[in-house]
Amino acid sequence: MMRMTVLASGSKGNSTVISSSRTRVLVDAGLSCRELLKRMLLAGEDPAALDAILITHEHQDHVAGLGVLARKLDIPVYLTEPTHRAWVRMLTPRTTMSYAQWLDHVQQEKEARANAVASATAPQSGICDSMSAAVESASSGTEGASDCAEPEEPESVQKISVKADPTYLPAVEYFRSGRQFSIGDIEITPFTIPHDAADPCGFVFASEGIRMALATDLGYMPPNVKAALKRIDVLLLESNHDLEMLKDGPYPWSVKQRVLSRVGHLSNMATAEFLERDYDGNATYIVLGHLSESNNAPELARLAAEQALVHHPALLGNRILLAEQTAPLVPISL
Ligand SMILES: [Zn+2]
Ligand SMILES: [Zn+2]
Repeated sequence: MMRMTVLASGSKGNSTVISSSRTRVLVDAGLSCRELLKRMLLAGEDPAALDAILITHEHQDHVAGLGVLARKLDIPVYLTEPTHRAWVRMLTPRTTMSYAQWLDHVQQEKEARANAVASATAPQSGICDSMSAAVESASSGTEGASDCAEPEEPESVQKISVKADPTYLPAVEYFRSGRQFSIGDIEITPFTIPHDAADPCGFVFASEGIRMALATDLGYMPPNVKAALKRIDVLLLESNHDLEMLKDGPYPWSVKQRVLSRVGHLSNMATAEFLERDYDGNATYIVLGHLSESNNAPELARLAAEQALVHHPALLGNRILLAEQTAPLVPISL
């Protein structure tokens, strides 16, 4: 069994849960911690069962809740070293950090983590209590009280470092694009994508003979991405903007240029071109994601994909899903 639950997709925040029967990982944490917990519960995903967080790249719509959520759940974060470095730099007031300073920073983090483990004698305040608070606030429509609040009193070394350093993570694991690694019984293959971030990537997840892939935030479709997206059973693929809507839309000229560039985002047309010319038609489901709210309409993205897949009738109709910005998508299980 594998399951994909898209919690949010779009320029205001991205996050997806990928699970096998034994392992559960969160890909990106681009909403606030509170909103992520709320959406997981709404979608029937237990946050306390997450084993790790994986990050594609350091843009705000992929990391907004990262630090708070990782500390809250006390789980490791998997990312590349350049992405980690860029994220730390983003959160650190001084804008430049030499490599020597970076190595110092990593060393200090390691020591803080070791001290935190050594001094973690008192039981942590229950995640499950705050989880139910999140459910209550989700169902009542009011803001949760303090489910993601950082600890106030410096009771332990960990808490001191959290208070002093928003870049503190309970554990960090580096991967490199092109090199496969595993979390529990999920095999993960990261692949490089063309996008204006430090070291952006997409992922293929494989477990129990099922393969799922995430590929968003792509300026264009290079050969390595086309190759990575073969033999995929559930594919989350970017379909960011309609070219005409973008050109006539509200964005300033410089932003339009960035979106259209080879390190920006895939248009409906570029996605359709890939689906028509290069795609093997293997998927049971294709989820179109990272749709722009200003420069796209779900019907346009769907229509472009359906026209491109006309030779794969099994994929038409309810096999093409549209991920949303404001609500989780129904979990897809295979
Ligand atoms: Zn991005
Ligand atoms: Zn993005």
